[in-house]
Amino acid sequence: MNMKTIALAGALTLCVAVGMSGCGQPRGVKGDENGPSPLTEAEIRLIEGADSVMYVLDVADPEDSVILRAASQDFRDKDLQGEVFKTLAAKMLATVNAPEQGGVGIAAPQVGINRRLIVVQRLDKAGEPFEIYPNVRLDSLYGDLVKGREGCLSVPPFRGLVPRWTKAIVSYKDPETLETRRDTIAGFTAVIFQHEVDHLDGVLYIDRADSVFVDEDWKRERVSFDSLGRYKKPAILRESRDF
Ligand SMILES: [Zn+2]
Repeated sequence: MNMKTIALAGALTLCVAVGMSGCGQPRGVKGDENGPSPLTEAEIRLIEGADSVMYVLDVADPEDSVILRAASQDFRDKDLQGEVFKTLAAKMLATVNAPEQGGVGIAAPQVGINRRLIVVQRLDKAGEPFEIYPNVRLDSLYGDLVKGREGCLSVPPFRGLVPRWTKAIVSYKDPETLETRRDTIAGFTAVIFQHEVDHLDGVLYIDRADSVFVDEDWKRERVSFDSLGRYKKPAILRESRDF
């Protein structure tokens, strides 16, 4: 999710709560019947081979779009406690924190990994830390349905007005203790969670938006970002693979 959204969050307008908007069903998730499958060789190669700031997939690219639109599966417990998972979490943190990205959240499919992991900036906590949430799910959405502006690192240079719930109960797995944890989130941080967890189901904010428009500032800035040369697509994302 993109940083500029924060400045605009104060301009949220109330909208009538009519229930969750329907979105297309994501493709089937591998590993459902027998639990999550182990990290594949292709996933490990992508994670280990990536720069500390990873290439962020763009929905306008047909190859990237296939990954962004796929449903993601959980990590196995064994993988959550492995070095590859730690590397992925560290690189996703570096990516969302890169000044040229300026994000407040990112989901693993955005870096090419169809696994349930998101990074969220906890704007509701002192110091506004970025935290990781593996195997995350939205257990409950409640409160009011409120429209607010959103952007997405994978949908440049657009923004949209999106209805989101003001409160969420999320569950996730602590990668160290492997215990399931729950947290109740409110306000704009709840919006970030909804946006990022949607990514894990192959849903983008543009699917839920009432309107979508070009952000001219972002469009201008994006050109200079590209000139940094940090967004070269890894060759492995062009290969046929079993992710
Ligand atoms: Zn996004």
